[in-house]
Amino acid sequence: MNAIFKKELSSDQLKELFQNDDKCLEFLADLKESEGFICRKCGNTNYCSGKSPHSRRCTKCKTEESATTGTIFHNCKFPVSKAFYIAYNVCKGKEDLSSYEFARRLSLRQMTCWNFKTKIQHALQQMDTLSDGEKLSINKILTS
Ligand SMILES: [Zn+2]
Repeated sequence: MNAIFKKELSSDQLKELFQNDDKCLEFLADLKESEGFICRKCGNTNYCSGKSPHSRRCTKCKTEESATTGTIFHNCKFPVSKAFYIAYNVCKGKEDLSSYEFARRLSLRQMTCWNFKTKIQHALQQMDTLSDGEKLSINKILTS
């Protein structure tokens, strides 16, 4: 998870991310871009843009990979911008916000926030057991 928030983001950047799903997807896509591309299906390393926003499509087998694939935000049932808010606060936040507080701030159910917060804390714990080399792979870090 820290890989995703390795750089301290400015408050303007954060504001933008926390209010805009598309910006979040773009942020994830940029992160993945820096890691290169390997098709999960056929191993091909060339891609073009896919149909959904900021997705990538393998030029060989045409498998499309969404911006959230391989990240902790995959299959998230609520807006990715709200998930970003929770993720960032758990990773970098100065205060330890409760799931009740997240729920209040984001207009989400407390259980939803609790589940996602736990998922991130798990990913963070797992990361402590990884070697530096492994940490470089955002796929490993963010898939949980
Ligand atoms: Zn492929």
